[in-house]
Amino acid sequence: METILVLAHTEADGSLAKSAREALHAARTLNKSLAGSSLVVGLVGENVQAAADSIAACPATKYFGVAGKDFVQSRYASDAAAAEAICKSAQATIVVAPATSRWARVLPGVAQRLGGRADTHVTGVTDAGGKPAINRWYYRQRMEATLTRAQRPWFILVDPGSQTACECGAGTAKVETVTVNLPESCKRTTVVGIREPKADAQTIRPDAELLFVTGAGWTKKQADGQTHVPEAEKLIRGFLQVSRASLGSSKSLVDLGGEGQAVLSFLSHLNQIGQTGSTPRHAKGLSTCCHGEEPHTVGWRFINERRAISLDPNCGWARGKADVLYVADAFAVMGKVNELLAAKK
Ligand SMILES: Cc1cc2nc3c(=O)[nH]c(=O)nc-3n(C[C@H](O)[C@H](O)[C@H](O)COP(=O)(O)OP(=O)(O)OC[C@H]3O[C@@H](n4cnc5c(N)ncnc54)[C@H](O)[C@@H]3O)c2cc1C
Repeated sequence: METILVLAHTEADGSLAKSAREALHAARTLNKSLAGSSLVVGLVGENVQAAADSIAACPATKYFGVAGKDFVQSRYASDAAAAEAICKSAQATIVVAPATSRWARVLPGVAQRLGGRADTHVTGVTDAGGKPAINRWYYRQRMEATLTRAQRPWFILVDPGSQTACECGAGTAKVETVTVNLPESCKRTTVVGIREPKADAQTIRPDAELLFVTGAGWTKKQADGQTHVPEAEKLIRGFLQVSRASLGSSKSLVDLGGEGQAVLSFLSHLNQIGQTGSTPRHAKGLSTCCHGEEPHTVGWRFINERRAISLDPNCGWARGKADVLYVADAFAVMGKVNELLAAKK
């Protein structure tokens, strides 16, 4: 009989992130398909009652919590101790957790301490003939595998954005407190502050409906024999501001910075989509001034509706990579699009 533990940490305001609700949805899917299994919740944070109450209507039979000042911030030693203690109290055989940066660096270590196994980048949980199974992608999202494991406890880190978030309602949850006495050696790391880009400089928006991709063409010489980088910046920024799209890029464009060429100031390697970049999930994607080569478009695996604007009618997008290719000048098209969007506001 499996005991499925959903393990989540609270946000700074004590709430649960969407990714935690996604993990809960995945865990519940397993719980429903595995006869005789039970579903329990474990929470870590300064105060976990509000988070537990917010999902109290879910079918979990027990709630475990590690709470206190020592568990506010992400820190390997305290997070690992908290997760380990909850897993032991819950006697968990399967642990489903959101692959947040906080859990992703800690839970494989906890699996090791408990003699279990961990799988990361999980995009689905299924029932393989009465046995729990997971899905994940390999070889830069080219091959999907379904796998099962006999080893327990089995830690399953679910990729944020890959599941629908559980919409179970609020109520009053009875949280069983799990006491963790942290030795001083586990408190040596302290978080003194958080440095992050200004809200409007944050161009990577995983929850956006649209992925807007910029390619190297934005910085290339145009029909008049000149480059128009400042104009490109203005068009792209303008579009992002009104559309709230997430900004992706081809490798060629982000690499230009390192080569000392004129670049778009708000792009970094974190924006890169593709084989050596990221594989985001958005309902739609619009590529501009990008050639649509395989190492780039492989990162579009999870983009459902794809469109591209390129001057080249023989580019990769025209060869089956996009649903619609506009053979057009992206400067002209995006200028018009921004104008229309501004008029709509
Ligand atoms: C091992 C390996 C890994 C790689 N990993 C990645 C990866 O993760 N991500 C990635 O992106 N690439 C990756 N690449 C590189 C990839 O193969 C391509 O070189 C890169 O994607 C090309 O970028 P681009 O299309 O922006 O530039 P270009 O190939 O220079 O294409 C620019 C395009 O812009 C168009 N254009 C120019 N002006 C305009 C205009 N005014 N309007 C409309 N269109 C215009 C041109 O017609 C052209 O099609 C990898 C390569 C290798 C070998």
